[in-house]
Amino acid sequence: MHINMDQKRLYLWYSKNKRILPFRNSKEPYKIWLAEIMLQQTQMATVIPYYNRWINHFPNLQNVAEARLSELLKLWEGLGYYARCRNFHKAAIIINRDHNGKIPEDWETFRSLPGVGDYTAAAVLSISYSLPYVVIDGNVKRVMSRVLGRKKLSTRNMSMINNRLNNWIDKENPGDFNQAMMELGAMLCKPKRPNCTRCPLQTICKAAAVGDPARYPGKIKKVIRPHYITVGGLIWRKNRFYVQKRNEDSMLGGLWEFPGGKVRKDESLEVALKTRIKEKFDLTPVILKKIGSVHHSYSHFSITFHGYHCKENGKYLQSRSEYKWIIPQEINTLAFPTASHKMFNLITKQGWDV
Ligand code: SF4
Repeated sequence: MHINMDQKRLYLWYSKNKRILPFRNSKEPYKIWLAEIMLQQTQMATVIPYYNRWINHFPNLQNVAEARLSELLKLWEGLGYYARCRNFHKAAIIINRDHNGKIPEDWETFRSLPGVGDYTAAAVLSISYSLPYVVIDGNVKRVMSRVLGRKKLSTRNMSMINNRLNNWIDKENPGDFNQAMMELGAMLCKPKRPNCTRCPLQTICKAAAVGDPARYPGKIKKVIRPHYITVGGLIWRKNRFYVQKRNEDSMLGGLWEFPGGKVRKDESLEVALKTRIKEKFDLTPVILKKIGSVHHSYSHFSITFHGYHCKENGKYLQSRSEYKWIIPQEINTLAFPTASHKMFNLITKQGWDV
């Protein structure tokens, strides 16, 4: 198979400069898939300890299929975008049941599994099974927008990028080609200061030729994310407090939380807390004291979360969700959203005696 000079330079650069990553020298589809899922919307440095912990607990896909979702969510806790974890579990169960435990090699079957999009399918099938699918993540889009001198990532330009990559991909070694392109974007062709003098693609890069390649691709208008004020209550019964499991189909599904909700316009925090809890449990809690407030940003919105210590008002709280009454030491046995952990950290500083 003939590879051209540009590919040779790209491979040479990649072989000398690629980062040593725990999944890099593996072609095992399970490991590649897990890493690609964890890396969606998440920085490499954040992912590595999560990846290592996960592989220690679940060395193969069958272990994942046989695990309880709550165990998986506990390991995923803090990584965010929990649907990735829930879908990986569903997909592992399907593969175990319908495919004899083998991760499918054909595009249609693999792509039809929960949570598997074009990017994940192309990454796993090219790296693990050497199938010539091009991977186009954010890094590759940026590199190609610069190489082709296309400022807008319009449908027409994306199709041009896609065609060029499909012509260019090394059919015998598509996994290395894709990884080299992604690595180039992550290491050299960075959004703000691309290091063109060290780049193996400099001779063919149109944006570098015209100067100021950091202007490619053009900026996408930032969407203003809404901000919500929320309240939550740790409802105490003796030395235990109440937590409930979030519906698995909801955002942060399968994680545990303490009850509360959004504060509406013209509501005070305490009125909002009593009202939200009364709406859910038909019980107006007695507020004991304020814990404090924390901030947290999600992908599409951010919150300020005000927490309170509360107790039942003489009536027992009746829950319709899956729930537990836990002691503070049990926090570590359940998966909570990061905002809840921020609140727990505040309480730990203040002391758990109410
Ligand atoms: Fe990016 Fe510069 Fe390389 Fe072009 S030459 S691909 S802008 S690092």
